[in-house]
Amino acid sequence: MKTIYKKLFYKRLKILFLFEVFRGMFFAFKNIFDSKATLNYPFEKGPLSSRFRGEHALRRYRTGEERCIACKSCEVVCPALAITIDSSMRENGSRQTDRYDIDMTKRIYCGLCQEACPVDAIVEGPNFEYSSLTHDELLYDKRKLLSNGDKWETEIFANLQKESLFR
Ligand code: SF4
Repeated sequence: MKTIYKKLFYKRLKILFLFEVFRGMFFAFKNIFDSKATLNYPFEKGPLSSRFRGEHALRRYRTGEERCIACKSCEVVCPALAITIDSSMRENGSRQTDRYDIDMTKRIYCGLCQEACPVDAIVEGPNFEYSSLTHDELLYDKRKLLSNGDKWETEIFANLQKESLFR
């Protein structure tokens, strides 16, 4: 019984002298001198995993030739049915895509297209800043995907190199 009164007494004492308020202020002042836990986004960005699944891109070989051989493995494996491919024959008998569309609003970030691709043509790159105000802007065609590939090739290549041991 005595200990209950003692606890109650200390609790009231804490309330009377605003103990929690001063404790909170102490931690606030203490953290002013600690290193920051936040980033000043978009000017500062945190590190990204090499396995990060961002915006899709279609890659080319160093010669500029498109990697995609229109095998349609990515289209078949996509569980969200987000990929649409039409293909035709080149003069040399190899296949090429006439149409390569991805509906980015359907995608589910599973990475199966990238895993299924035998020539590392379709990849999920490191870009995560591709939000838009309209639905139409997220319907990617081949031109957009190839331009993404050209833009991010250095980062994509570095990430694929890092992951090559685990694929
Ligand atoms: S991106 Fe890869 S998996 Fe998809 S059609 Fe082209 S070569 Fe095949």
